[in-house]
Amino acid sequence: MDSTSFECNFERFRVIFGAGRLVELPAEMERLRKHRALIICTPEQRDLAVTARELLGSRAAGIFDRARMHVPVELVRQAHDQAAALAADISVCAGGGSTIGLGKALALRHGIPLIAIPTTYAGSEMTSIWGMTENGLKTTGKDACVRPASVIYDPELTLSLPPRYSGMSGLNAMAHAIEALYAEGCNPLLSAIAEEAIRALCESLPQLYAAPEQIGARTGALYGAWLAGLTLGMSGVALHHKLCHALGGTLDLPHAETHSVMLPYSLAFNAPAIPAAMARLQRVLGPAPVESLLQLNSELGAPRSLAEIGMKRGDIPKVVDAAMKQKYNNPRRYTKTDLEDLLDRAVRGLPPHS
Ligand code: NAD
Repeated sequence: MDSTSFECNFERFRVIFGAGRLVELPAEMERLRKHRALIICTPEQRDLAVTARELLGSRAAGIFDRARMHVPVELVRQAHDQAAALAADISVCAGGGSTIGLGKALALRHGIPLIAIPTTYAGSEMTSIWGMTENGLKTTGKDACVRPASVIYDPELTLSLPPRYSGMSGLNAMAHAIEALYAEGCNPLLSAIAEEAIRALCESLPQLYAAPEQIGARTGALYGAWLAGLTLGMSGVALHHKLCHALGGTLDLPHAETHSVMLPYSLAFNAPAIPAAMARLQRVLGPAPVESLLQLNSELGAPRSLAEIGMKRGDIPKVVDAAMKQKYNNPRRYTKTDLEDLLDRAVRGLPPHS
């Protein structure tokens, strides 16, 4: 990347970070001059929503506990019906990317702003990217109105995230930061933030996996995830996100797992075209960044291949077709054959090569 000529666009986010800071939720509502919150969660995280309701007292209008992956439009309708019946003027989204995604859809379609309380490392809370699924087709877009009015990061809320999912969710964050080093829109400030995100994730994820109850490692991972989410929101995406999107869209492969398997393959492919990014990665990951990522995957118990998460070699053509249809800038040009080769290696768990 050329640090003598660039553009840099900032989006405004309010972030409250620290163990135990969930208690500041009522003060955030007050600051935003909002009075009736619809608390959104998945069925599995209802206890957290109940805690939020107790904290909010009379400012809690109700709980919608049916958030799920890929934001189906019928759920957006149901959540909106409940919000309207309760006269809610804000949503409080406590959970991972799926829960925050539903809050974003309410903001986009119905103008209801949101407070995000992230409990994974996916990073959705720091972007203006929304997604919704209708008739089996997921549509995504960017709109400033889906940006949370406040984000409360409380590492204590991540203690319950199982260690293996924590590792993969952390690798999902790592993918955002790594791709921000070379995707369209990268700039020197973004690269510095991305490097810090990668450093924090690299340090904390193995500690977290070994001792998931340690708040120090959880804090480090959430700090890295915040910075990684910020880089995703501020930069474009390239081949890695494109392939993961195509894999998720065509085969419904699990989101965080797909990112963790694919990252070493997409980085190895791009490596010859991104010398500045590789130099930064060498500083944080060591002399051989792709091998370090493979090592990290194995330390965190991530799947070794796409076959392990359900993909077959026969699926490759339709994924490649889907990937070739979407337009993304990538630092290295690729052909259909390149993608077929890359995916073939990833399905079989063969060593990545450039
Ligand atoms: P998720 O939100 O689907 O959560 C996975 C499961 O983990 C759910 O059952 C959830 O209830 C549970 N969970 C979450 N936090 C927990 C905790 N602390 N303790 C116990 N259980 C917990 O998973 P995710 O990986 O956070 O999000 C993936 C989704 O987010 C994908 O659909 C992806 O497309 C989207 N996403 C969007 C953006 C964006 O910018 N729009 C960015 C990243 C991801």
